[in-house]
Amino acid sequence: MKTAVSKKSAVKPSARKGTARKTPVPQARPFQYKGLDLYCDSVSLAPLAEQYGTPLYVYSADQISSRFQLFQKAFAARPHTVCYAVKANSSLSILRLLGSQGAGFDIVSGGELERVRKAHKPSLRRVVFSGVGKQAWEIDAALKADILQFNVESEMELDLLAQRAEQLGIRARFALRVNPDVFAETHPYISTGLSEHKFGIAITKARAIYRSAAKFKWLEPYGVSVHIGSQIRKVDPFAAALERVASLVRYLRRDGHDIRAIDAGGGLGIDYSDAPFDAAHQVERYAAALEKGLGAESAHLLLEPGRFLVAQAGALVTRVLVAKKNGSKNFLITDAAMNDLIRPALYHAHHEIVPVRKPSGKATLTADIVGPVCESGDFFARDRVIARVKPGDLVALLDAGAYGMTQASNYNSRGRAAEILVEGSQAKLIRRRETMRDQLATEIL
Ligand SMILES: *Cc1c(COP(=O)(O)O)cnc(C)c1O
Repeated sequence: MKTAVSKKSAVKPSARKGTARKTPVPQARPFQYKGLDLYCDSVSLAPLAEQYGTPLYVYSADQISSRFQLFQKAFAARPHTVCYAVKANSSLSILRLLGSQGAGFDIVSGGELERVRKAHKPSLRRVVFSGVGKQAWEIDAALKADILQFNVESEMELDLLAQRAEQLGIRARFALRVNPDVFAETHPYISTGLSEHKFGIAITKARAIYRSAAKFKWLEPYGVSVHIGSQIRKVDPFAAALERVASLVRYLRRDGHDIRAIDAGGGLGIDYSDAPFDAAHQVERYAAALEKGLGAESAHLLLEPGRFLVAQAGALVTRVLVAKKNGSKNFLITDAAMNDLIRPALYHAHHEIVPVRKPSGKATLTADIVGPVCESGDFFARDRVIARVKPGDLVALLDAGAYGMTQASNYNSRGRAAEILVEGSQAKLIRRRETMRDQLATEIL
């Protein structure tokens, strides 16, 4: 199989020659102040909010590309394909941005397959299909699209895949997603690699399943895959998982299966706090951990980063509607809510919240920053010390590029936000704000 990696893009020539030997550590975030105003790269956010309204998601294309290139560089020594996890942010323009640079995609539904097709059709052959409950129509669509690999999560699914492949006369390349029973420290809702979780197939059962699948001519045992969870900051669990996978691959090859791909999944975490964060270093540590786990086992390495590529590229810009005090507590109520960004409510996630225009003076305020939705769980931050902003001011929730817009809903009959992609000095509307007409379009009275 041809790899998506271009040797050219892996190492920038300028990094090798030239006089300036030290490349500066890139900023963790593209959102930086110029004077008193917050910018995304070279675009000021306040005028964008005026023009397009709030809440507004703003993303930096440069940041997404450079994170992707960090992966390309860190894994340059091994044939690999970075299959961006679509569920982190599935906006078509972002998929096209990555697809056109050679990324593959990790999808979890037929809907995501259609998004890849629409955004960048040539990338379909670099798609891996994960998920514990694939339906026949989704499998059919993926077979016809000739995707790279099905990551199969149960014996029942493997039977269904065999049946659909035979029916359509299309051979299915598959990997079993094995459950390595490795603990990774993260929020329990996004931990997936323990035997108590619904994901994958016990690694101890895998060999027997490959053996029986190999007898079936419409199934091609192509790879082994693993994914232990999300927002994992320590890299040791990745090494441990890969070590178990590599050992399985050794056995499978001895059993006569031509295993070509090892899919290491995604899950590399970022730093949501305002501590300094060296993304390049983190990817290098991650790559070293995977190499350690793989040992001498050669294979085409598939990687499925989602959050790491897009989280820090995005911010959710929102306007403060109301300031109020209940008892001893201050509340700032914004026009964004949990339906726009559910991470704080769902995972108790932390997002830095900063003013779009710095207020004069250094005065701060301790407040709960909350949305207008009728739920006490509708909060972005509790007892947060923040610059003294007032109603009418704009604030930005940082690191909102992953699992933000993709988890947005119409709860409280609120329309979904608009999205902007900043490319250099240009800001492009990539999704218009949802209207009431859009919301009512599917209902029958
Ligand atoms: C969600 C998911 C990913 C991406 O996880 P991140 O933490 O965003 O990198 C990759 N692979 C699978 C199978 C997933 O479910």
